[in-house]
Amino acid sequence: MSDLFALETIGWVEVAVDAGLDACGQGLTYAIDPELRDVRVGEAVLVPLGRRNRPVRGWVVDRLTQPPAAGGAAIKHVLSRIDDAPRLPEELIELARWMAGYYITSLGPTLAAMLPPRGTATGTARARRWIQLAEPAHDNKGPRLGASQVRILEHLGQLPPDQLPVERHSLVQALHLRDAGGVDRLLQRGLLVEVAAPVPVDGTPQRPNLTSAQQLVVESISAVLDSGFSSHLLLGVTGAGKTEVYLRLIEKVVQAGRAAMVLVPEIMLTPQTAQRLEQRFPKHRIAVLHSGISVARRRAAWQAIEAGQIDIVLGARSAVFAPFTNDQLGLIVVDEEHDASYRQDSTPRYHGRDVALRRAQLACCPVLLGSATPSMESWANATVHARHVLHRLPDRAPGLTRPSVRIVDRMAERRNDPGPQRSLGPTLRGALERTLDRGGQALLLLNRRGWATFIACKRRACGWVMRCDHCDTSLVFHRKRSLAAGGTLKCHHCLSQLRMPDACPLCRGPLARLGEGSQRLEDEIAHLHPELEPGRHLVRLDLDTRGSGNRVQAVMDDLRSGTIRVLVGTQMIAKGLDLPGIQLVGVVDADTALHLPDFRAAERTFQLVAQVAGRCGRGAVPGKVIIQTCCPEDPAIELASKEQFERFAEMELLQRTQAGLPPARRMARVILEHQDLQRVREDAHTLKQRLAGVEAQWEISGPAPCPVGRIAGRHRWQLEVFADDAAHLSAGLQQARGQQAFVGLASILVDVDPLQLQ
Ligand code: ADP
Ligand code: ZN
Ligand code: ZN
Repeated sequence: MSDLFALETIGWVEVAVDAGLDACGQGLTYAIDPELRDVRVGEAVLVPLGRRNRPVRGWVVDRLTQPPAAGGAAIKHVLSRIDDAPRLPEELIELARWMAGYYITSLGPTLAAMLPPRGTATGTARARRWIQLAEPAHDNKGPRLGASQVRILEHLGQLPPDQLPVERHSLVQALHLRDAGGVDRLLQRGLLVEVAAPVPVDGTPQRPNLTSAQQLVVESISAVLDSGFSSHLLLGVTGAGKTEVYLRLIEKVVQAGRAAMVLVPEIMLTPQTAQRLEQRFPKHRIAVLHSGISVARRRAAWQAIEAGQIDIVLGARSAVFAPFTNDQLGLIVVDEEHDASYRQDSTPRYHGRDVALRRAQLACCPVLLGSATPSMESWANATVHARHVLHRLPDRAPGLTRPSVRIVDRMAERRNDPGPQRSLGPTLRGALERTLDRGGQALLLLNRRGWATFIACKRRACGWVMRCDHCDTSLVFHRKRSLAAGGTLKCHHCLSQLRMPDACPLCRGPLARLGEGSQRLEDEIAHLHPELEPGRHLVRLDLDTRGSGNRVQAVMDDLRSGTIRVLVGTQMIAKGLDLPGIQLVGVVDADTALHLPDFRAAERTFQLVAQVAGRCGRGAVPGKVIIQTCCPEDPAIELASKEQFERFAEMELLQRTQAGLPPARRMARVILEHQDLQRVREDAHTLKQRLAGVEAQWEISGPAPCPVGRIAGRHRWQLEVFADDAAHLSAGLQQARGQQAFVGLASILVDVDPLQLQ
């Protein structure tokens, strides 16, 4: 151990370790010896940690000119550099420092979350190569062609001439090939040739004339593109042409030699947005970053961005950490800014939209948030606080029609439709039948996974409901391939699984599978429409079936080609899709979110209904939307069906203000977890006392058990901390952390600006 201190010291650095022991959002101090004289901020290093000097990974976040006050002798030395690790630009370190402070997380894990996963980068960022069939084909005598090679040739042979040449990688994606190997072998054999990039006919392909509303937005944001930080909220109904506005602004940014960043909420939305970007910017370099892309490609993209070779980055929330320099970055777009998937629900808990705002501030560039259903937070920032400039696109883009929306009262229908209880009432059943008869496609949304959402004893006097042994939740029944093949009971919280019992354990009575989930809906439609082949014409897309990004892409392609006639799914299918063949959208149960113990229930319901209703009416045939609900008069449902966001927002904000809830005040949730209930309860009270004195302006409610009081065997209690503004909330929490308020208690999780309230 002594040799760690015996080395010659020539300076000191602050290192944020991956292990996350930098409890106050700062790094730890280490000395450096002559070998590491030129170590730079952002480099990955190995440092000894703890009493046993375990070597751990970390990043140099600062170089210190002075030895720390605590006496230089006890300071350990950096062990070595980690050579093949990417270096973090200072921009990201600054952003991470802000995140660590604001979200009360450790600096090291925050930095780790910014980097692409470990692995080796193969090749460079994807080079765009254009190919077409060789004419005449001069090799027919080589070894036999593989199946995928034949598919490639057939596919290219069928394409109309104006769609050729095709980009090599798009071809791989379009045919769901594992890699470009088949394409390359065909190139080698001379059956395919590589050609120059196609020259767009009139400058840029498919660039519609802007409507006057779009023009206005583009002009007003263009005017401030070079004026440092500004933030904008674009409110436009689905199909209003928001994406077209983004494209025009990106065009201006890349023409000026700067880079643009586009964030989308779901990995599912990236392929079609990527396609639109690639078509519009054939000469520019676009990198796609999201978790569905291989580690090697993400690392390659990261390197290309760092090397200044990328003009546009598109990706899900973590793409906000693309390593552009502040000078490079010219615009950040956050599409569907209201979407909950911008929120990361594991450490570091951050909101991609809010980090994007901060990033734009640091980079001195504009940030544009867009949505048909903005979050109450962004809406208040635009209308109450004038922090964002508000822009509106009130009408749909030319050629798009507003779908007709009908609200159906489930209870009334059920009274008039005796017989077995079904998920689809007579109105929706009839509409589905007519849509299929006409050759249209339908999208049916039910925001609950599984077949039955709970299992209960059929004997009313008994009342037994099957619950998870480890959590305070009921178990969900998931069938196997078919219901006849049986199924398993799953806990959606701790992921444990159980066999379905034969009878009620209390009274030996028969069991009922109650509550409707997306699997049951799928079965019901298969039963109503035996002509639809399951898995081909009738497809379900939810967390259980989504699998990889490729699978989602395949479903999208099959929807576009018309193979899929009915798509059943959870909210995953409600987002930003742009599909012309959809003639019917059915919301099977609009009330799934309405009765949750969550102050955002109305907002979520409004978003779900308004967003899903926007999924149709993009084709030639006007679309129809049917919303089944037990609360037909609920304002969230009614206003969403009429696309009256501003009326809804006004009402909702008033209620939140009266109740002192976000966005009227800022909130943090502090959750304590422990196996021992007594311990959690006591610690929660202790913590409340510790926090109470920190910030005079705070209001702390609780302690109380969390809505889900136990998960995976750990009891959960919470405190809710409210403050009038972010400054008071954040400063107070940081002060509390500095005073060790969170130390020595049951395990604690601080969730700043929480979205999940379970
Ligand atoms: P949003 O992002 O608001 O949902 P999009 O930008 O995707 O809307 O536009 C919806 C559709 O309308 C797209 O197919 C788009 O190409 C088309 N579109 C957008 N703006 C115009 C315009 N000014 N003229 C004609 N078509 C347009
Ligand atoms: Zn459980
Ligand atoms: Zn019973």
